Amino acid sequence: MTAPGERILIIGGGPVGFALALDLAHRGRASTVVERDAGTGLVLLAKAGFLNERTMELFRRWGVADQVAHWGCPEDYPRDTTYCTSLLGHRIGTAPLECARDRIRPESTPEINRKCPQYVLDPLLAKLAGESGLVEVLYETVFEELTEEADCVRARLRNTRTDTVVEREAPYVVGCDGAASSVRQAVGIAFEGETLDRSVSALVRIENLENYHPLGRAERFMFIGPKGTWANLTSVDLMSLWRFTAVGVSPDADLDSLDLTEELKRALGRDDIPFEIVRNVGWRRSQCTAATFRQGRVLLAGDAGHTTSPTGGHGLNTGLGDAAGLGWVLDAVLSGWGGEPLLDAYSQERRLVAIRNSTASTSNYRAWVGGIDYSGVLDEGPTGEEARRDVAAHLDEALYPEWNSYGVAMGYRYDESPVVVSDGTPPTEDDPSIYLQTSRPGHRAPHAWLSEGRSTIDLFGSGFVLLSFSPQADFEPLIEAAAQQSLPLQCVPIADEAIAALYERKLVLVRPDGHVAWRGDALPDAESRDRGSGAAALIERVRGAP
Ligand SMILES: Cc1cc2nc3c(=O)[nH]c(=O)nc-3n(C[C@H](O)[C@H](O)[C@H](O)COP(=O)(O)OP(=O)(O)OC[C@H]3O[C@@H](n4cnc5c(N)ncnc54)[C@H](O)[C@@H]3O)c2cc1C
Repeated sequence: MTAPGERILIIGGGPVGFALALDLAHRGRASTVVERDAGTGLVLLAKAGFLNERTMELFRRWGVADQVAHWGCPEDYPRDTTYCTSLLGHRIGTAPLECARDRIRPESTPEINRKCPQYVLDPLLAKLAGESGLVEVLYETVFEELTEEADCVRARLRNTRTDTVVEREAPYVVGCDGAASSVRQAVGIAFEGETLDRSVSALVRIENLENYHPLGRAERFMFIGPKGTWANLTSVDLMSLWRFTAVGVSPDADLDSLDLTEELKRALGRDDIPFEIVRNVGWRRSQCTAATFRQGRVLLAGDAGHTTSPTGGHGLNTGLGDAAGLGWVLDAVLSGWGGEPLLDAYSQERRLVAIRNSTASTSNYRAWVGGIDYSGVLDEGPTGEEARRDVAAHLDEALYPEWNSYGVAMGYRYDESPVVVSDGTPPTEDDPSIYLQTSRPGHRAPHAWLSEGRSTIDLFGSGFVLLSFSPQADFEPLIEAAAQQSLPLQCVPIADEAIAALYERKLVLVRPDGHVAWRGDALPDAESRDRGSGAAALIERVRGAP
């Protein structure tokens, strides 16, 4: 039984808050999740739906990949994006993407990307966190303020049903409370960036939409007018629930009361298609990043640390990466083998990834609305056809990185991190669409099958892992140095030439989050037992020794 004061306090029971609680529970760490709503999944939340390959790898680690992949949406529904003037207007072009059943899994991952809307995902994560027995959830409770002391944080919460104050003490508080984060504001961390537009989405039920238009089934229809993309209709469940988004509404509009009925009819191109608007949601499209993800004992993860235009579907994927990046760090520091600098390293590593991913998303957004003259797209006759050909060519090229973002998903690296040991090799290209595996320090450790259904990445997740590809490699000094600091380290010899070639060096040290911390053909200065050099110094570095 964990005393309340020992539990990590997670403010915000959204997907990132529960994923962090789950990651901590996997490490045997107890947490309390504070959520202002009365439960999880009470509203039909249909924001994130695209879960990239790296996220699916994390879900694999947390034991939920199968449930996320097979929650009930059809496997044979095409994931194409079709550009058109309306469903009954002109087809401009299509960016094809195979359905889950036909998609070829990239060689570099055991998972394919998936579609799972938040109204399915969030309750699933909440349920699994609850089942761990290590996660306490306080619903109908809001975070109000905090005071940091030398060895703990005191937080004042309020139960909104009973209107009573709940005081909690915790070793660390993590703000997973979304873009308007009260935690971030409470500690005065600046949130810098820009608003790109204000948009409003309607969740719409339309049965058998494909029966009413000639464009065929697609996951997304983008509606193009003389000023560029003005709306899109995206399938939420690959069945009958759609999200219709009007891009860039007037800055003065009251987003919550906007009625999109007329815009939707314009997009459908006819007004006899039966539909039901389930709810409207106004939102601000922005690219903002917190100045730091750590201030003392307070940390940020998810939208609390970064906002991202949904163009590309990187927001939640980035937030789940934060959860995976933070869980092991908190566990390390609380266990005593990790030093406080690990917390700063978390902030630096994930902040740079957030900037990288949100910049890619903003670039996708700009391609939607600019970059070419759209004025002739509605014209009939040869001039209209030519204008639409130009727009198709522009969108095919400019939006390629949005529909093909494997590089964004997999290629982020922590090579500038203070707890990663550079080997002096130059950075590999960081292309939004292309990902090439490498064991270069800071990168995700490569995937290869060890046996049927068992990947090298399944070796990672709890402590550090030293992969040894040579029977001659002497790794004893590293084992000893780790043991001296109680750093959990397991050595795994691998006698497979293809995997050895993929990993490029005879010894590769992988962190609990699956990223390479160090690599070499021999331990540095293997004879030395001094903390300032050799294997001992390596351990000091990767554990963030003060
Ligand atoms: C239209 C749209 C489409 C999107 N599509 C994708 C996609 O396909 N893929 C993707 O990766 N991302 C996508 N995103 C982004 C994604 O939805 C967010 O990045 C994600 O929801 C962030 O999760 P979070 O847990 O950090 O924050 P949130 O989901 O905002 O959760 C925060 C939680 O904290 C609670 N809370 C807030 N304040 C307090 C308080 N003071 N006390 C207690 N609780 C509090 C809230 O009730 C909420 O439950 C999309 C976003 C939009 C708008």
